[in-house]
Amino acid sequence: MLIPEIKINQELCRSPLECAVCLSVCPQAVFKAKPANVYKFRETPEEEYTLKAVYRVDCSGCGRCVRECPAGAISIDFKPLGPGKEGRADG
Ligand code: SF4
Ligand code: SF4
Repeated sequence: MLIPEIKINQELCRSPLECAVCLSVCPQAVFKAKPANVYKFRETPEEEYTLKAVYRVDCSGCGRCVRECPAGAISIDFKPLGPGKEGRADG
């Protein structure tokens, strides 16, 4: 069985909350924008959010995120699933 390995170039994806194209086009809701830092008594500034492929196991491999990302920040490789490698992880 092949599973998609989603790579996000954080240097190219500078502002996921402002862009959010992949967040809106992914039919499987794989991506989330998460704060890289959390502060007491104040909100995390938008520029400190980073994009993660949190639910990558749900990825169908449709390629929409790769095609539509305006920054070319997403790439996907398909790798064989090894034994005992199920579950969700940050991408
Ligand atoms: S579409 Fe590309 S640039 Fe926009 S948030 Fe997603 S990864 Fe970042
Ligand atoms: S390939 Fe398709 S399902 Fe997978 S993360 Fe990209 S848009 Fe979502």
